[in-house]
Amino acid sequence: MPRLSQADLVELNRNFEERTPQELLCWAKEIFEDRVAAMTSMQESGNAICHMLYAVPVPMPVVFVDTGVLFQETLDTRDRLVSSYGLNIQTLSPRLTMEEQTEKFGVLYLSAEGQKQCCEMRKSEPLDAVKGRFDALIGSLRRADGGRRGGCPILAIDTRLNCLRVNPLVNFSDEQLDEYIRQNDVILNPLHKQGYSTIGCNRCTTPVLPGEPKRAGRWRHLGPWSVYCGINPTDLDPERSPSVDFPQELIDRILGRETDFMI
Ligand code: SF4
Repeated sequence: MPRLSQADLVELNRNFEERTPQELLCWAKEIFEDRVAAMTSMQESGNAICHMLYAVPVPMPVVFVDTGVLFQETLDTRDRLVSSYGLNIQTLSPRLTMEEQTEKFGVLYLSAEGQKQCCEMRKSEPLDAVKGRFDALIGSLRRADGGRRGGCPILAIDTRLNCLRVNPLVNFSDEQLDEYIRQNDVILNPLHKQGYSTIGCNRCTTPVLPGEPKRAGRWRHLGPWSVYCGINPTDLDPERSPSVDFPQELIDRILGRETDFMI
């Protein structure tokens, strides 16, 4: 099977820096047709993407991982996106309930090692269900969030799911995101107004105090070394140059090469 590597995407990523998020969503739909889906965890950026899918419109399914220990406000936000924007949100769940997991492995999220195992079982493994269904997943990572996301590419290879991650909002500043949300009255998770700058599971998320970094409320009980769950491959090891198996015809379409198919 032909392979597409992160290095193959350098020029395309450079050209895409000037594109708007809506243009990038349209590009993804045109290239991947019914084999592209968006992902959201019901936070500001993901909900802005959901609004763009509705407003442009760019029809595609939206994938949401319900770890089983999310805040009720997060689940309610999902339901409001469905009823107001008419989105097809597909909810993925872990194999074990939190009670079953705790009975089998103990309370994992209280230690740094256990957190990795818990996030793997409750976030990453459920997402494995889409492997083979989609060649591209739309994310909502932004460079303005800093940390490992400070250099996030627009197009990123995901070896685990053998797909391309597309991040149309990478260049959106905090001000641009706020302005988009305000102008379009984007449906938001009400927890943002209660001091939660980012929102994950109820076991591992707290509000953030004025002056603290945005992600200070995530895994606060574990200290500053556990700031990512691993569901986004660019959070894990940004130095790698990974590759995926794609049909040659799809690689040509992504890279904009002329082929017999396109003619
Ligand atoms: S955020 Fe906490 S509770 Fe949720 S999957 Fe990760 S470790 Fe488990």
